[in-house]
Amino acid sequence: MEQLRKSYHGTEVLRGIDLTVEPGQVVCLIGASGSGKSTLLRCLNLLETVDDGTVWLADESGAEQDVTDPRVDVDGVRRRVGIVFQAYNLFPHLSVLQNLVLAPTRAAGVSRQAARERALALLERVGLADKAGAYPDALSGGQQQRVALARALAMDPEVLLLDEITSALDPLLVGEVLDVVKGLRADGIAVVMATHEMAFAREASDVVAFLADGEIVEIGPPEQLFDAPRDPRTAAFLARFR
Ligand code: ATP
Ligand code: MG
Repeated sequence: MEQLRKSYHGTEVLRGIDLTVEPGQVVCLIGASGSGKSTLLRCLNLLETVDDGTVWLADESGAEQDVTDPRVDVDGVRRRVGIVFQAYNLFPHLSVLQNLVLAPTRAAGVSRQAARERALALLERVGLADKAGAYPDALSGGQQQRVALARALAMDPEVLLLDEITSALDPLLVGEVLDVVKGLRADGIAVVMATHEMAFAREASDVVAFLADGEIVEIGPPEQLFDAPRDPRTAAFLARFR
């Protein structure tokens, strides 16, 4: 991301964001409510258009695509950049397996058989192999959110954006969801996650970015940011969690 800017009704809520995320990295965005975390994620997934700046998405060969180009293939970008929100948003009238098979077969041209096999492997991976035939309302919040992660992974994304995916959960269920996120590193997926889970950000991220008023005030490895913040605004924000 280079110098991303976004305003709503004349108020700038992203004020020149520069951020690079490597394959296999987990980058956590922390910051007060209203600091711009969700807006940033939404711009990356093209749910919002940026007013200025560029988002480059590089493929394995190193070729870069300008995602902010108005002529971009939006669906193509969304296949490469998945997003999961706080509310699970599973399709209630579809079984867990059907939830996972839908987008790959409808939007990505994957055969039913291949999509089914991949879905079952992903359910195994998130610890829900026995829930393939269940409907979302029969699952706990943590289970639903693990299905939502599996559904995003079913599209085989290169980047996964996670917006407060644990904030609607009972604290006892947070760990099982975050464990799935930790496991993504091994796949080389780049994860950008807005979170209020400071313990997770400290333990599981490669990079933590602290946002305030639409700017990245401070960015660095978690040890540096949490244990030796350089900016007084970072220190003041973190003091609230002590
Ligand atoms: P939280 O921790 O509460 O989720 P956040 O860091 O995700 O906060 P954003 O949702 O990105 O914050 O909001 C950043 C700013 O942009 C806020 O001042 C918000 O009111 C404003 N904003 C966000 N979406 C819109 C919109 N669709 N229209 C107008 N203003 C918006
Ligand atoms: Mg938000």
